[in-house]
Amino acid sequence: MADRKDSLQAYRAKRDPRRTPEPSGARRPRRGRRGQPIFVIQKHDASSLHYDFRLEANGVLKSWAVPKGPSTNPRDKRLAMPTEDHPMDYADFEGVIPEGEYGAGTVLVWDTGTWRNLTEKDGEQVPVEQALRDGHLRFELQGSKLHGPYALTRVGRGGRERWLLVKMAGEGADARRKPVRSQPDSVLSGRGLEEIARQGSSR
Ligand code: MN
Repeated sequence: MADRKDSLQAYRAKRDPRRTPEPSGARRPRRGRRGQPIFVIQKHDASSLHYDFRLEANGVLKSWAVPKGPSTNPRDKRLAMPTEDHPMDYADFEGVIPEGEYGAGTVLVWDTGTWRNLTEKDGEQVPVEQALRDGHLRFELQGSKLHGPYALTRVGRGGRERWLLVKMAGEGADARRKPVRSQPDSVLSGRGLEEIARQGSSR
C-alpha cells in the first residue's frame, strides 16, 4: 500500500506553493467528531464548474470531480472522475487559485462533515482501501447539506476509469430537493463563489 507521502506526490507535482494559496499538506488537519473520518465537497469554478468530492482515508483525501455535483435523488447517477489524492488540510480550503495555475478558479466548501464505510461482502465489512480497489464503496454521509447512504461505483477501467456517485434510498433521499441549486453557498463562511472571488484567498 502506498504511504501517505507517495500518495500526495501527484498533488505536489501539479502545484507550486509559491504561486497557489492551496494547502501544502503541512498544516494540522481538522478532525471529525469522535475521531470519525471527514468528507468535504468543494465547489470549484475552474475552466468548467464542478464539485470535488473528497473522503478521508488513510490520512489523505481520496478525490473525485463530479461535474453536476451530488444529488439527493436515488434515480440520478452522477459521473465522478477520479483525481489525485489531496492533503487533509485541503478540507478547509476556500479561495482563488490564480490564472495559469493548475485548477485556476474559485473554490468554496459546499458541504463537509463525517462519513462512515458501509461496504459489506458476505456480511463482513470491507475495508475502505479494498472497496476502492474493488470499485464499489457504500457509505453514509453526515454533513450540513447531505445525509445518509451513498454509493460510488467504478464503471470504466484503465485510462477510461470513471465512477458513478449515486444516492441510496433511506435517510436524506429526496427527489425534489436539488441542494446543488437551492443551497449554492459555502457551509464554512456562508459566502458564494462571487464573494470569494472578490475577496481572494483571505477568509
Ligand atoms: Mn477541482
